[in-house]
Amino acid sequence: MDLKKCIMNNKKVMIVGAGIAGPALAIELLKKGAWVTIIEARSREEMTEGLFLGISPNGLNVLANLIDISRIYDEYVPGTLRFYNSKAKQIAELDASYQNDAYGIASIQVKRSAISNLLHEMLIELGCFVEYECKLESIEYFGEKINIKTSKENYQGYDYLIGADGIHSKCRKLLFPDSPQPNYTKMLSTGAVVKIPNQATPSEAIKMMFGKQAFFGFSTTNTGETWWFNNYDAEQEPHRPVSDDESQQLKIKKDLLELHAQDHRKISEIITASNDLFAYPIFDMPVLERWYAGRVCLIGDAAHAISPHTGQGASLALEDGAVLAKCLIKYDDPELAFSRFQQLRSGRVAKIIAQARKIGKAKSKPNWVINLFRDSMLKYFINMEKKKMHWVYGYDVNKLDI
Ligand SMILES: Cc1cc2nc3c(=O)[nH]c(=O)nc-3n(C[C@H](O)[C@H](O)[C@H](O)COP(=O)(O)OP(=O)(O)OC[C@H]3O[C@@H](n4cnc5c(N)ncnc54)[C@H](O)[C@@H]3O)c2cc1C
Repeated sequence: MDLKKCIMNNKKVMIVGAGIAGPALAIELLKKGAWVTIIEARSREEMTEGLFLGISPNGLNVLANLIDISRIYDEYVPGTLRFYNSKAKQIAELDASYQNDAYGIASIQVKRSAISNLLHEMLIELGCFVEYECKLESIEYFGEKINIKTSKENYQGYDYLIGADGIHSKCRKLLFPDSPQPNYTKMLSTGAVVKIPNQATPSEAIKMMFGKQAFFGFSTTNTGETWWFNNYDAEQEPHRPVSDDESQQLKIKKDLLELHAQDHRKISEIITASNDLFAYPIFDMPVLERWYAGRVCLIGDAAHAISPHTGQGASLALEDGAVLAKCLIKYDDPELAFSRFQQLRSGRVAKIIAQARKIGKAKSKPNWVINLFRDSMLKYFINMEKKKMHWVYGYDVNKLDI
């Protein structure tokens, strides 16, 4: 495409949030000649916060259009899932390697910071201006051009403002002050990265153990680190990051050890060896009727946060970035571009969110009848997953009729 003829050439785009959705959109628009600025509340160092997340073929195929995807395998775990009961007896396996043939790439787990770093490098290579420690405070002018006020300085004369600022989006609050707020689900997603000397052999699969009282997932990366996660019932939402609070860390560790006391000892060993526990509250986000107004549009978690139960948060954020870029490149009118974007995305996203809720319920509150049924039948049901997940993994942003 002749860049000069591209609608986005020389357009000024302000993106709030350098998580996953923001950079994905930015890279596509920069390639089409747009001037993109990203403001990010966290410092560059704080962008390493967080643990690891799952990315499935639908997300990886978008990522492969943005960066050199081979670098993502520097540190990872393959996405094959092996399910165990509380005594560590394998009850089923969901092999992800078939996805290589079906979709050209297979699901993996990677550190959130690894994706963030690779996207950041590409942004800089393409000449994007990224301002860290800079928070959106208000939208000052909302007409033919957008002016915003931030914690650092004011930015003026933007053609578009994109809110990619996550589940507690300031942009969403400014755009739709009466929109419902995310609800705390009384569940924390906890986990850690730990080196355990006798456990350095890379895992072929992520081990998913249905404990007597709670679910526990763990694996060892190709670099010998153990990554584990657990969804933990917690009545009170933490008021500050758990990583900064030693007493909360100790409490969570004690609770988890109690919760898994009757399960295979490996779980207790892993929890005991962990020092820097990460925990973030899981929120349920009410459906937002509109994701846009005027020249402002929300993407990723800001528009439609999803619980971590299906591991689709990052993949959906990547898809959003790619689809919105295509809409902006096709339609000069913001109303047309944004409404087409929401039309293309809302049905898919709602269906995946519903699926995540269902999986979340299945992981919590086990009872012995369900456990018995699960232990004997899961291996039969799991085979249906390949077919059931095809519409999720086989999504190809390049085949969409924009
Ligand atoms: C620090 C952090 C750690 C995470 N760790 C994990 C994890 O370990 N496992 C997992 O499955 N998911 C994790 N997530 C969630 C996961 O990254 C998202 O669900 C998914 O990637 C969707 O991406 P997103 O770009 O829409 O939102 P996010 O990845 O949440 O990115 C939003 C960005 O916007 C920034 N921001 C917020 N408000 C403002 C403002 N007013 N002005 C400027 N910038 C703002 C935030 O600092 C953040 O970097 C984490 C999210 C964050 C923010």
